[in-house]
Amino acid sequence: MTTSADAERLDEEDPLAHCRERFELPAGRIYLDGNSLGPLPRAVRKRLDQVVSVEWGQDLIASWNEHDWIDMPLRVGDRIGKLIGAAPGQVICADSISVNLFKVLAAALDVTRGRSKVLSIEGNFPTDLYMVEGFQHLVGAEQCRLETVPHHELIEAIDDNTAAVLVTDVDFRSGRRHDTAAIARAAHDRGAVLIRDLAHSAGAMPIELDAEECDFAVGCGYKFLNGGPGSPAFVYVAERHQHTRQPLAGWMGHARPFDFSPSYEPAPGIARFASGTPGILGMATLESALTAFDGVDLDDVRQKSLALADLFADCVAAAPELSAIELVTPTDPHCRGSQVSFSHPDGYAIVQAMIAEGVVGDFRSPDILRFGMTPLFTRYVEIVETAETMRRVVAGERHRDPEFQRRGRVT
Ligand SMILES: *Cc1c(COP(=O)(O)O)cnc(C)c1O
Repeated sequence: MTTSADAERLDEEDPLAHCRERFELPAGRIYLDGNSLGPLPRAVRKRLDQVVSVEWGQDLIASWNEHDWIDMPLRVGDRIGKLIGAAPGQVICADSISVNLFKVLAAALDVTRGRSKVLSIEGNFPTDLYMVEGFQHLVGAEQCRLETVPHHELIEAIDDNTAAVLVTDVDFRSGRRHDTAAIARAAHDRGAVLIRDLAHSAGAMPIELDAEECDFAVGCGYKFLNGGPGSPAFVYVAERHQHTRQPLAGWMGHARPFDFSPSYEPAPGIARFASGTPGILGMATLESALTAFDGVDLDDVRQKSLALADLFADCVAAAPELSAIELVTPTDPHCRGSQVSFSHPDGYAIVQAMIAEGVVGDFRSPDILRFGMTPLFTRYVEIVETAETMRRVVAGERHRDPEFQRRGRVT
């Protein structure tokens, strides 16, 4: 069994230990929800102050040129590209995952013309499925038809009518990670393309979009990338597919927006995946937040993430009082992301009671207790303390208190 002394030693030997200083973390709290909303990187305040006070406050509209606001979506996109194995010119920062999914769905159906099936996994994040349904409603089931299957049946369900396979790298409930390289190969063998949702993988582990020949991908800025609430998302389109038109063709994706031409001419390359004016405050926040990854090797991040998760699962398994708390995240390192999920019928109340004791995880309906492993700032000693807090809550039945049953609109 790992003791606090062991955990302290692991922290001392941790090659990422210095990164914790890059964040403002509230005292007296253990934050295991950086997979849902990353904490505030220290670099953000200074950058936002500069953007607000000088760029907006003083230089006003000149800042589009003078402070390169106009290039920010591509600049931030390339910066994210480095974290996800994408060569420059294939990622643009824009909109939300949902909106970007609409764009790439249309592009995917365009490059596989004649096929209609969009294949995804049961239990995929709802917005991904809703966006396909919405698209299907718009163009008709002859052009686009959503089919979902259990994850272990995905590859065999790819057929000659499959236009796109839509996979979230890491399942938001269970933490299961899918073998995206194998899925890409299977999709391509059948003439389909792969769309990946990187919401729970970007910034949490090495990702190789180009090397795995991924076709399209989307991801968000506010989870492991720490870009702040409602941070803009990003979209990746492999260079070979960038000739396609996307339907949310706004003026910012035009080849020459300031010609104000009456007809649309798509910008060359990834720039055409922009729609309207970028939210500069949010994008500047994300850009500065990404400096938290400076000099960081994502292999180190992955290794520590797995070690934190193993430590947590071991501590929970070692506590007899927690025998009813069932681990649902796979134990095979290849098959899991950067979170540890458990199930328990009183999961919601247990999470609330833990939050009241200063340990922040979250709950996902119907019964998942979810804890994000965020190696840039989480310490091993915090994991030992988290398991101990869970033990104290459950053993003392603290979660039975009615105050922990009340549900907010956001869980
Ligand atoms: C968080 C998350 C989203 C969020 O989508 P937005 O449109 O950016 O709000 C999408 N997909 C997955 C898998 C997520 O986990």
